[in-house]
Amino acid sequence: MKRQPSKETLCVQAGWQPKKGEPRVLPIYQSTTFKYETSEQMARLFDLEDSGYFYTRLQNPTNDAVAAKIAALEGGIAGMLTSSGQAANFYAIFNICQAGDHFISSSCIYGGTFNLFAVTLKKLGIEVSFVNPDASEDEIDAAFRPNTKALFGESISNPTLEILDIEKFARIAHKHGVPLIVDNTFPTPINCRPFEWGADIVVHSTTKYMDGHATSVGGAIIDSGNFDWEANADKFPGLCTPDESYHGLTYTQSFGKMAYITKATAQLMRDLGSIQSPQNAFLLNIGLETLHLRMQQHCRNAQAVAEYLSQHKKVAWVNYSGLPNDKYHTLAQKYMPNGSCGVVTFGLKGGRETAIRFMDSLELAAIVTHVADARTCVLHPASHTHRQLTDEQLIAAGVQPDLIRFSVGIENVNDIIADIEQALEKA
Ligand SMILES: *Cc1c(COP(=O)(O)O)cnc(C)c1O
Repeated sequence: MKRQPSKETLCVQAGWQPKKGEPRVLPIYQSTTFKYETSEQMARLFDLEDSGYFYTRLQNPTNDAVAAKIAALEGGIAGMLTSSGQAANFYAIFNICQAGDHFISSSCIYGGTFNLFAVTLKKLGIEVSFVNPDASEDEIDAAFRPNTKALFGESISNPTLEILDIEKFARIAHKHGVPLIVDNTFPTPINCRPFEWGADIVVHSTTKYMDGHATSVGGAIIDSGNFDWEANADKFPGLCTPDESYHGLTYTQSFGKMAYITKATAQLMRDLGSIQSPQNAFLLNIGLETLHLRMQQHCRNAQAVAEYLSQHKKVAWVNYSGLPNDKYHTLAQKYMPNGSCGVVTFGLKGGRETAIRFMDSLELAAIVTHVADARTCVLHPASHTHRQLTDEQLIAAGVQPDLIRFSVGIENVNDIIADIEQALEKA
C-alpha cells in the first residue's frame, strides 16, 4: 500500500502535482477567465453539470491547489480560499444560516469575528448567542433553540489563548443536529487537527502563521465531508432543497459529501465574490512550504519567553498553555501535544499604563496589529483590536484591560528575551 504522506511532506508537496513538462513550482494563473471551445461546454459549467474554471470570482487553479494543500493538512476533503479570515468566517456561517436563523459561538473569539457575529450578521437577521467555552455541557445545551444551525469556536482563542475542548463542543453540536465549525488559525494543522476530534468545518485566517511572513491577507474554509446534512434536512434547506439560482439543483443530491463546500463556492463566491487573488495564493503557498519548520521554532521560542516572563518580578500573570501550571495545560496536552502556538499573553504589575510604557520601550518587537508571523510583534488588545468592545464585552471575551499580546517570532530567542528585559527595566 502507498504510504500516506506526513504533514511535513504535505506542507512542501501537496496541492500541485505537475504533469509532464509543466512548471515544478505552482504557477500563478493570473487570468480572470478561461477559454472553451464550444458554447455548450461553457453552458454546462454554468449549470454545474461539468466542473471547470470559467471566471476567477468563483474559482482559480492557483487558489484551488493551495486550498487542496490546506485541506490535505487538515485531513479534510476539500477547501476554498477567501480574501480574508473575516470572509472565511462569514461564509462558513452564511452558507448554512439565513434570516431568522440562530447559531451559538464561544465568547472567546477574535474581536473582528465577535463584531461580525454580534453586529453585522444581526443586521442580516441572523442571531448569535455567546457561551463561555468552559461552561458545562448542560449550560451550553440550554443555549440551543429550534432554529440553531451551528456551533462555533476557536481552537486557541485570539488573543486570550483559551483552548477549546473540541470533543465536548463536537458532542454538543451533534446532539443537536448541527455542525461544529472551528477556527484553527492559531495552532494550524501542524499542531492541531480539529477534524480528528469531531469538528465538521475548519476555518482559517491564512494571514497569520500559514502565510507566516505578513505579506497577504487571506482565509480558507475546509470541509471534513463528515457532517450528514440530509439527516438534518429540515435545518439546512439551503443544502437539501433545490437552489433556484441553479435551475433547481440540490447540493446534497448532486455533490454528496462535497455539498457544503460546493455551495460555498458556486453560490456564495459567485454572489459575494470575496475570492483570494491568485498572486496572494501563490505567496501563501510559499509560506505553507515551511509552516512545519516555523511552527516548531515559534513554539520553542514562545515556551522560553513564557518561562522567562513567569519568573520576572514585574510580571503579574502569564498565559501560555506550555506552562505546567497554565489553566489550559491539560487540554493543550490532549489537543496539541507538540506545541500550541507562538503567542503568549501577560499582564504587568501596574496595569494599563505600565503595559503601554513597556510596549513603547521594545526595540526588536514591533507594535503592529498583526499577530503570528516570523517577526516578533506586540499589541495591547484593549487599546487596539478590541477598542470597539465595551468593558463588559471585553471581560466577557476574557480580555483583561492590562493584557499584552506578545507574538513570539522565529528570531534567536535570546535576542527576544534581551529586548523584553530592557523594556521591562524601563516600564
Ligand atoms: C486574524 C483572525 C481572523 C480574521 O482574519 P483576517 O485574515 O484578518 O480577516 C479570524 N480569526 C482569528 C482567530 C484570527 O486570528
